[in-house]
Amino acid sequence: MSKILIIEDERSIAELEKDYLELSHFEVGIEENGEQGLEAALSEEFNLVILDLILPDMDGFELCKQIRERTDIPIIVVSAKCEDIDKIRILGLGADDYVTKPFSPSELVARVKAHLSRYNSLTRASENEVIEIDDIRIDKTARRVYVFDEEVFFTSREFDLLAFLASNPNRVFTKEELFKKIWGVSSIGENATVTVHVKKIREKIEKNAAKPVYIETVWGIGYRFKLYNPS
Ligand code: CA
Repeated sequence: MSKILIIEDERSIAELEKDYLELSHFEVGIEENGEQGLEAALSEEFNLVILDLILPDMDGFELCKQIRERTDIPIIVVSAKCEDIDKIRILGLGADDYVTKPFSPSELVARVKAHLSRYNSLTRASENEVIEIDDIRIDKTARRVYVFDEEVFFTSREFDLLAFLASNPNRVFTKEELFKKIWGVSSIGENATVTVHVKKIREKIEKNAAKPVYIETVWGIGYRFKLYNPS
């Protein structure tokens, strides 16, 4: 079952949205400020975010940008700010859709369903596939990696980490997130493990591990897999 996160400081609106979503059998969580909203959105608990733009503690535009930097779940903005310039700006920051208040709750639910179904079909398509980037081929089904058509041996964790990063290109992940994702437990004090694995992966896929072009270090944050377009 899909879980929807509502970030909205007006309780009555949040409850209205929640009621309609629950009628369509969604699970719903509500956060009333930006800080907790961001934390919830990044918790991997939710499949879609409904975001109000005017919140007591944080600019909704900034919040949208921060969510999008870290996760690709659909974001639907619901706001009374209805100038075209706001819509263009928020869509430019990575929101998937925009609904102007006052809105029809049934229409909002229809849009939630449409975005979830598109997102789920995209995610399914990216499973069980072969990822090819330049001279690297990652066969996720057979769990094998080829560099310049030669198979290169990866340990299980190295493979998981590479496949995860390459499946989510251009997104920055913190070392904590990567550790949790790959090792399945929280990572207090385990950041070095991630660093070591990234180093080993680089030695296997990069032409020059000292100047990596695939797994980029984002200083102070973590890593991202950069999609390279040599053409
Ligand atoms: Ca508001």
